[in-house]
Amino acid sequence: MKKIIEVQNLVKKYGDFTAVKGISFSVNEGEIFGLLGPNGAGKSTTLEIIETLREKTDGKVFVDGMDLDLEPNEIKKIIGVQLQTSGYYPGLNLTELIKLFSGLYNQKVDVTEFLNLVNLKDKAKAKYKELSGGQKQRFSIATTLINQPKIIFLDEPTTGLDPQARRNLWDLITDIRKKGTTVIITTHYMDEAEVLCDRVAVIDSGKIIAIDNPDKLIDDLVSTGFERKKEVKAATLEDVFIHLTGKSLREE
Ligand code: ADP
Ligand code: MG
Repeated sequence: MKKIIEVQNLVKKYGDFTAVKGISFSVNEGEIFGLLGPNGAGKSTTLEIIETLREKTDGKVFVDGMDLDLEPNEIKKIIGVQLQTSGYYPGLNLTELIKLFSGLYNQKVDVTEFLNLVNLKDKAKAKYKELSGGQKQRFSIATTLINQPKIIFLDEPTTGLDPQARRNLWDLITDIRKKGTTVIITTHYMDEAEVLCDRVAVIDSGKIIAIDNPDKLIDDLVSTGFERKKEVKAATLEDVFIHLTGKSLREE
């Protein structure tokens, strides 16, 4: 398996404070890789360094074999980044925004086909600010795909979404991976990580404390004699919610 990202002893200091304390991990080509950890763990810092948007203090990063220190501009060409604070031009509609982005990336894009991909064909003439939370997330994921990247980075793409919109994004992310794109995602939802991620790294206070596939991590915990406090039921409250309210999106 090809390692498309390699991070070696990465350190990030903000003044006296060390936010990332010498972490090492790699991401395999074509996998969905999750970075999990409490607020302030260093997830966004790590992603932004790999995305070439933030300076590192120490360590090495290679993306598709390219050294971040030597070829940041070449790395930029093969990645798609979802910006957390999407400051899109408020006065432009989605069609105009896609054209703007494709112009920036020097790519020819069929706008209708593109919006269709993320289920937003009906919103071609809508302004970004008029979209629901789930639609905004879908649109911003779409913008990461314009330059046909090998890797996309999604930082908490489902935070604040209702269960229907969240599941809809899972489908979208799974579809993107099916086409061969490597996905790196952060999330606070462990059910989401369990469904989506081939492997996860758990990061706490700037250190990686576990890295493996979700099944293995769960089995390891169980093998220590761990038992859940509450009896495990065959369904969750979220299953009940989806069963009662249906899977269809509620955003129009
Ligand atoms: P996460 O994404 O896991 O919540 P971050 O990478 O955003 O964590 O932040 C890691 C730590 O670094 C936090 O303690 C945060 O307050 C600190 N931090 C992040 N950005 C800056 C910055 N620009 N200046 C100083 N400290 C920062
Ligand atoms: Mg963050």
